[in-house]
Amino acid sequence: MYDPVAKAVAVAQRVCDGERRKYHRFRAARFYGGIATADCLGCCLSCAFCWSWRQATHPEHYGRFYTPAEVADRLIAIARRKGYTQVRISGNEPTLCRAHLLKVIELIPGDLHFILETNGILLGYHPDYAEDLARFPHVYVRVSLKGACEAEFSHLTGAAPEAFDWQLQALRNLSKAGASCHAAVMVSFSSGEHIAALRRRLADIDTRLADFEVEELVLYGDTEARLSRARITYRTTYAPANIPTEQIWRQAAPTCRDRGNTVELSRHAGMDCRHPGDRDVTLPFIPSVWVPAQIRPERICIHPKGVGQDSPA
Ligand code: SF4
Repeated sequence: MYDPVAKAVAVAQRVCDGERRKYHRFRAARFYGGIATADCLGCCLSCAFCWSWRQATHPEHYGRFYTPAEVADRLIAIARRKGYTQVRISGNEPTLCRAHLLKVIELIPGDLHFILETNGILLGYHPDYAEDLARFPHVYVRVSLKGACEAEFSHLTGAAPEAFDWQLQALRNLSKAGASCHAAVMVSFSSGEHIAALRRRLADIDTRLADFEVEELVLYGDTEARLSRARITYRTTYAPANIPTEQIWRQAAPTCRDRGNTVELSRHAGMDCRHPGDRDVTLPFIPSVWVPAQIRPERICIHPKGVGQDSPA
């Protein structure tokens, strides 16, 4: 087992160089309804289901160092060319190189949302990091929890179980600092009981966090073989070509407050910690909704490998 905070320091020495950071590609991605994406290198966790495992474990074999201006210029160019209103740093863990990340954010104009996808470990460990992010009104933080409890977290990541609390602490710190944020939870390995317990823990931090985004396993590349070698079994999964459209989020629409006779499933909390009273009008994204008669079959029976079961959420 390892300490992810100590690992973050060690990996940062390989992927951060002053204000420069290693990246391996820049692309237009379909997620969030279309988003300019920079894929960074290096991570402080080692999730067995990671879709960019090679880059996370061997960042020295890929990419090159970029300055914050080079990264921001590429993201802005992709967004403008494609007509996107959102940019992100994805791939591995964006928070490892703090000076670089904050500078990139500073260079992204306010009319583009900056989605920070993070495992939250460093934002939990360093409260002032969360405060730094809260200074930017165009930043939205998505903290991805690796499992629903300490034991699952450790089983999936190989990290010390107590480090799971850094993930939860990230949400506490972000909420306290007034940053826009929500939790995403990898539920494919979790029992309904553990998920219900996590929902209660999130609600204890902030009631709005209980409405978390459901993340599910996608079997990219050699993920299945890696899970099998680690003897980790999963409950739900999708092939890359069959990711449900509701997991390829749509952009916000002004109609998101008009839910009418619809059922909202917990895809994306879309919470804005700064304007709790204005939640519906400040959502950067619209949650996935269906009318009751149109709930997708895989949401009712989402266990493609076995007998049907209810959604773990
Ligand atoms: S936190 Fe994300 S990038 Fe890091 S190992 Fe886990 S899934 Fe991969």
